[in-house]
Amino acid sequence: MKIHEYQAKQLLAKYGVPIPPGEVAETPEDAARVAARLSGRVVVKAQVHVGGRGKAGGIKLANDPVEAQKVANQILGMQIKGLTVEKVLVEQAQEIRAEYYLGITLDREAQRNVLMVSAMGGIDIEEVAAAHPEKITRIPIDPSWGLTEFQIRQALFDSGIERSAIREAEKFLHALYDAYVQLDGSLAEINPLALVGDGKLIAADAKINIDDNALFRHPEFDLYKEESEEDPIEAEAHRRGLQYVRLGGDIGIIGNGAGLVMGTLDEVKRAGGSPANFLDIGGGAKADLVRNALEVVLTDPNVKGVFFNVFGGITRGDEVARGIIEGTKGMDLRVPLVIRLSGTNADEGMALLREHPKLQTAPTMQEAARKIVQLAGGTR
Ligand code: GDP
Ligand code: MN
Repeated sequence: MKIHEYQAKQLLAKYGVPIPPGEVAETPEDAARVAARLSGRVVVKAQVHVGGRGKAGGIKLANDPVEAQKVANQILGMQIKGLTVEKVLVEQAQEIRAEYYLGITLDREAQRNVLMVSAMGGIDIEEVAAAHPEKITRIPIDPSWGLTEFQIRQALFDSGIERSAIREAEKFLHALYDAYVQLDGSLAEINPLALVGDGKLIAADAKINIDDNALFRHPEFDLYKEESEEDPIEAEAHRRGLQYVRLGGDIGIIGNGAGLVMGTLDEVKRAGGSPANFLDIGGGAKADLVRNALEVVLTDPNVKGVFFNVFGGITRGDEVARGIIEGTKGMDLRVPLVIRLSGTNADEGMALLREHPKLQTAPTMQEAARKIVQLAGGTR
């Protein structure tokens, strides 16, 4: 689960991380009021669950409350990477002399959490990793020892951070690690860690992702959940009780059972297509469930075809076919639909489906995958 910058900063502050004074605002007038309270120059920052807000125009400086109101008005409602800005963080502006990067995340290959430190902060760490991998110091953390003093010092010295700042940076790393572990983070980042005018360090930006599998241990994060839905189609699917994950391609996928759906994604890939989503409708295929699933899949404007893959087990193939026929009745399908049925009473089900010309069928998963990829415009 992603949380907003202001929420991550509030959490880190509890662990002793210095953050700039500031408050969130939902209207330009509110932003002006916060700026007035802070006095002096402020920075107005879009609160959305993506990085690179600065480049996208979502972070602007303002010299006084009137200007803060003006820039907040520009930023609120703005679209950043498909997300609408509904809140801004208004903070005391910092005089930044240098920008560093501190991060902790799970390295699946090393099977450890890994500490990352870089003197090249302020830009996306992915960019640094691609262009100057040697500029990132990476240190794997032994879970039984935690992050040790010597590792922290080694990372900071190796990273090229200004010597005078190292003592203070140590405190940030301790706090970041404690927060990461205790909050069940999957990522905790301070970027930039700003070296400011008086030689002090401050967290100018912060990001924390929480491991979804640990959310049950953190009822205190319930208030973040509502806002954490990034994708509007995923949000709608979850409201309808569907197991849906958006994948970005153009072939809609619906199946019963997570394993079958994952296998279907592979087959579509193998046939040269690109799956738009994962959607597991679970057991049964009653008309309203079929309709619900199709509606959600078709909400994605990229979808050029849908592959419906069902294995008839307890739910018999003919029942599934009836569910699909009834569920699609009168529905504007707008794209081709290919159905593959197997298992109990599959032949009866296929016979029923063949009476409906807008519902196309294929005898095997492979053939169905090839067919839908072709109908949706071929391989790419
Ligand atoms: P991001 O682009 O989403 O990662 O947002 P950041 O909070 O990291 O801001 C991007 C950049 O804005 C920083 O790297 C700074 O270079 C610049 N910036 C300039 N003045 C300030 C300031 O007072 N506060 C903050 N947070 N950033 C500033
Ligand atoms: Mn940043």
